[in-house]
Amino acid sequence: MASKLQDLYGPVIMAHYRTPHHHGHLEGATSDVEMLSPTCGDEVRITCRIEGGRIADIRFEGRGCSISMASASMLTDAVAGKTVAEARALIASVREMLQGAGDGDAAALGDVATLRPVTAHYHGRTQCALLPWVTLEKGLDE
Ligand code: ZN
Repeated sequence: MASKLQDLYGPVIMAHYRTPHHHGHLEGATSDVEMLSPTCGDEVRITCRIEGGRIADIRFEGRGCSISMASASMLTDAVAGKTVAEARALIASVREMLQGAGDGDAAALGDVATLRPVTAHYHGRTQCALLPWVTLEKGLDE
């Protein structure tokens, strides 16, 4: 029952969805933010520990469509160990890429770049893909 939408979900997206990285709840987190996507119903909660201006550890939990969950898994890989400033720059870059403002620096974005064909064809999925990034951004602001 393969749909056209699923055809756009490459093996990288499906691997993150089926076997998410950094999944769970982080004990002793310094930041704990949960957000909901009203259109799709996706829920993402990100807990992370910031030490010396750096994201020392991070976990995500939640439920939702494969794009939101795969994006959350990719996010944890991308920002773990980065400074808060580097994470903010990455969030801005991902937002730009997913909203179609440009291709961004696809090489620097790694697995996250595989979300671009999905949001390019199905704009309704942009919010799903962005949800974890917006959630982390809120966490960094607090
Ligand atoms: Zn969704």
